[in-house]
Amino acid sequence: MIIAPKVRDFLCLTAHPEGCRKNVEKQIEYVRSQGEIEGNAKKVLVIGCSTGYGLASRIVAAFGGGADTLGIMFEKPAKGKRTATPGWYNTAAFEEFAAKEGKYAKTINGDAFSQEVKDQTIEMIRQDFGKVDAVVYSLAAPRRKAPDGVTYNSVLKTTGEEFTNKNLNLKNNTIEMKSIPAATEEEIEATVKVMGGEDWKLWMEALNEAGVLSENAVTVAYSYIGPEITYPIYFEGTIGAAKKDLHKAAAQITEELKDQGVRAYISVNKGLVTQASAAIPIVPLYMALLYKVMKEKGLHEGCIEQMERLFKDKKLLADAITDENGWIRMDDWEMKDEVQEEVKRLWEIVDTDNITEYGDIDGYWDDFYHMFGFREEGVDYDADVDPAVAIPSLEA
Ligand code: NAD
Repeated sequence: MIIAPKVRDFLCLTAHPEGCRKNVEKQIEYVRSQGEIEGNAKKVLVIGCSTGYGLASRIVAAFGGGADTLGIMFEKPAKGKRTATPGWYNTAAFEEFAAKEGKYAKTINGDAFSQEVKDQTIEMIRQDFGKVDAVVYSLAAPRRKAPDGVTYNSVLKTTGEEFTNKNLNLKNNTIEMKSIPAATEEEIEATVKVMGGEDWKLWMEALNEAGVLSENAVTVAYSYIGPEITYPIYFEGTIGAAKKDLHKAAAQITEELKDQGVRAYISVNKGLVTQASAAIPIVPLYMALLYKVMKEKGLHEGCIEQMERLFKDKKLLADAITDENGWIRMDDWEMKDEVQEEVKRLWEIVDTDNITEYGDIDGYWDDFYHMFGFREEGVDYDADVDPAVAIPSLEA
């Protein structure tokens, strides 16, 4: 069938298998062009491996670091005329490229928050790897069924008082004012349950108890802080509360597993268009302005450039370079004064009439479409394609 994008708000309901494959191939080519990575993590577990930062981490570990990778994801295959989710197609492509180079790459598709998937993962590590040297925790989820049996739903709200600011309406590229309500205590707690550090800790404890963590293993989870403009919706919002909890978990994991020499890191990444971030109000406008400024200054990066720099320059797997809080600052370029001052200046003056001049709307939408495998060069979007694509390791 011919697959075209079907965009609804900040989501695209379709994905293109060939376009997703192209996207993965481009990321692999980029990593190959950057040379070898220092560090000795040859068996890597990536939790949240199929899109965004997790996929990029998996590609860097495998094609830059020569690692065997086991990935966990929550994706849907195609069904009849409904295409698979992009993460499904990305993973099929990733496994295909890995196999071509004789690299081990297997994937588990299921709920990473569940004990069942944790047990399944441990079993697979025992069988195939023995132990893992590195664990990347890159989940972005709207809900979590916790071990207490309760399903918690995360919300994207501010805390304290209602917050109003400029927002980019993605339906028609207009700038309007948007109010974001303050979350209740329960909503904050639920968001912390979903996106905080509890599940990361449970993963690391389970892996350790099962004896499948190598001595001196490294684990990393991804965070975001951002500038003051987005504080009310991000860092001081519900999601920020969850990230602060994640930061605490890093220290707790390192302390709890210190006999094993495990180091748990927080990498504070750059704000980028992904399925997770497109859903956050006010943030897309910030991104459009940020992309414009960073591109003009030659500082712009996507997920793959960020993760390449995390593994290589910041030496995630060797002796990671951190700030005074122990965080790896991948947002170092985003937070440069020269970048933030310019974004702030543009934020003051941006409106519907000048958004295309001051903001990188095209860049925003390009990234958005690329996530779903559209607008990729060299892909014939008029060609008939089969939406049913198999992921080799899930077939076995
Ligand atoms: P994403 O939506 O692209 O990726 C999320 C991944 O999690 C996918 O692989 C998905 O399959 C998997 N997943 C979701 N629910 C799952 C479940 N229940 N079980 C198993 N797998 C599940 O998101 P992303 O933007 O790459 O975010 C990854 C992490 O990076 C998040 O912690 C996010 O907060 C953080 N981060 C994102 C940004 C940004 O701007 N996008 C910036 C800094 C940090």
